[in-house]
Amino acid sequence: MSEHSHPSASSWFPVFLDLEGRRVLVIGGDEVALRKIRRLHSAAAIVDLVAETLHPGIAELHDGERLHWLGASIANDDLGGHALIVIASADAFTRDRIRAWGEKQGVPVNVVDRLAESSAIVPAVVDRSPLIIAIGSGGQAPELARMIRSRIEKLLPPSIGHLASIAGSLAGRIRSRFPELARRRRFLDWVFNGLPADEVAAGREDHSRALITRALEKDDWSGPGHVSLVGAGPGEPELLTLRALSRIQAADVIVHDGLVDARILDYARRDAEFVDVAKRPGENGVGQDGIHGVLLEHARAGARVVRLKGGDPMVFGRGGEELAFLRANSIAYEVVPGVTAASACAAYAGLPLTQRGMAQSVRLVTAHCERSIDRLDWAALAADYQTLAFYMSVGQLAHIEHQLIAHGRSPDTPVALVENGTRPDQRVAVGELRELAALAREHAISSPAMLFVGEVAALARELGWYGDALLKGRERIPQAVAATG
Ligand code: SAH
Repeated sequence: MSEHSHPSASSWFPVFLDLEGRRVLVIGGDEVALRKIRRLHSAAAIVDLVAETLHPGIAELHDGERLHWLGASIANDDLGGHALIVIASADAFTRDRIRAWGEKQGVPVNVVDRLAESSAIVPAVVDRSPLIIAIGSGGQAPELARMIRSRIEKLLPPSIGHLASIAGSLAGRIRSRFPELARRRRFLDWVFNGLPADEVAAGREDHSRALITRALEKDDWSGPGHVSLVGAGPGEPELLTLRALSRIQAADVIVHDGLVDARILDYARRDAEFVDVAKRPGENGVGQDGIHGVLLEHARAGARVVRLKGGDPMVFGRGGEELAFLRANSIAYEVVPGVTAASACAAYAGLPLTQRGMAQSVRLVTAHCERSIDRLDWAALAADYQTLAFYMSVGQLAHIEHQLIAHGRSPDTPVALVENGTRPDQRVAVGELRELAALAREHAISSPAMLFVGEVAALARELGWYGDALLKGRERIPQAVAATG
C-alpha cells in the first residue's frame, strides 16, 4: 500500500473501531500526538507512547494506566497486540520500521498528514454520541471535510445524541410494536422530528421518553398529523432557515405554491408527495378552499405536512387564514418564518430599507387587486422619509406612479424594481417615480418583482453587488446635453 498513492477515494472502507480497553501505539510526543491521544482516550483506548520528550499536555495525562510511556524507542518485543498505530511524528527510520511492522502484522497504521503512507486515515468527526458522523475525503481535501463537518454540526443540535440513546434503549420495543418497516419508519420519523425530539431539545428527556412509551402502548397509533407552515424564502436555497430545511427534509407531503424555487424542493425526501397548488395565469388553480382541503386530508391521515410558501408565510401569504382553518379543525401546526421578498430583494439589490436621513420606516404594501389598491391610503403612502416596498405590483405600476405623485410624492423620488430577486437571473432597474411605468415597460420587467419607492432606491446604483444586470432609467440630463451638443 505504501508503494503507490491511493488512486481513488473509493478504496477507503469506512469502519468504526471499538477501542474500549484496547491498546493503541502512538509514536511522537508533540502537540499533534497530544490531540490524537485525547481522541483515543475519549474512545476509552489505552495508549502506548513512544517519544523522546513529552509535550507538557501529554505529561499531564501520563498516569500510567491509560497512557504508558515506553521511552524514546521501541524494541521489537514491545510491538504486538495493538489495534491501531498512529504515527504523529517520528524520524524516518523509526517511521518506516514501525510501518513495515504494522503492515506485516495487519495492524492499521495512520501516519498523520501522510496519506500515501497510511493504511488507515482518521476522519473529521461530528460527535453527538452515541451518534457519530465521520467525514472523509480519502485524504484529498481534509479542509473540505472539516467545512462539511461544521455545516453538519450546525444542522444537528447537541441534543440529538440523547435522542439517539432514547431510541436505542427502546429499539426492541419499537421493533416488536411495529414489525412492518413502513409503519416503523413513520413512528421513528415522529420520534426524531416530532414532539419527542422537541422535548429532548428542550432538555426534557424524561418527557420525551414518556411520550414515546405512551405512543407505543396505544393500539391505534397512526401518528399525529401536523402541518408546518414554512417560509421558503425568495429563491436562493441557502436563505432557508435551518429549521425550514429540516422540516422540508422530514416531510411526508409538501404542499407548495408556484413561487417556491425548484432547487428547494430537491431537498425533500425522494418518496415525499408533492402537491402543487400554484395559481397560474389563465387557470383557476386549487383555490384557498382546495388548499385547506389538501392540508386537512393529509394531516388527518397522520402525515407530516409542510405547507411551503415563497418568502415568509405571514407576509401576503394567507398564512393567517390557513392557521385559522387548521385551528378550527384541531390540527396541530407551527410556523417557520422565511426571508420575505422585501428584505431579500433589498439585500440583493444593495439598497437599505432604512437609512439615516432618508427613511425611518418601511411599509410593506400589496398592490394586488383593483379593489385593494383603490383602498390604499395614498396620502399616507406619499409621505416623505419612508420606504415603500410593493408586492405584486407589476400590473399596477402606472396607477402607483400616478397616485403617489397626485398625493404629493416628488416625481423624482428614486424607484427600484427587483425582478427574480436572489435568483441567478435577478435584474434590478433603477429610475425615478415619474418614469416608473415606462421603466418597467422598457426592460420588460415581469413577475415576481418587488417595487421599492424612496430615496434609498437610488443607492442600488452604487451598492448593488449581486449579478450584473443593473438596468437604468432614462438619464434625462445627459441625454438633454447630448441632444443639444
Ligand atoms: N410571502 C411572500 C410574498 C408573496 S406575494 C414573501 O414574504 O415574500 C408574491 C409577491 O412577492 C410577488 O408578486 C413579488 O412581488 C414578491 N416576490 C416574491 N419572491 C420574489 C423574488 N424572488 N423577487 C422579487 N419579488 C418577489
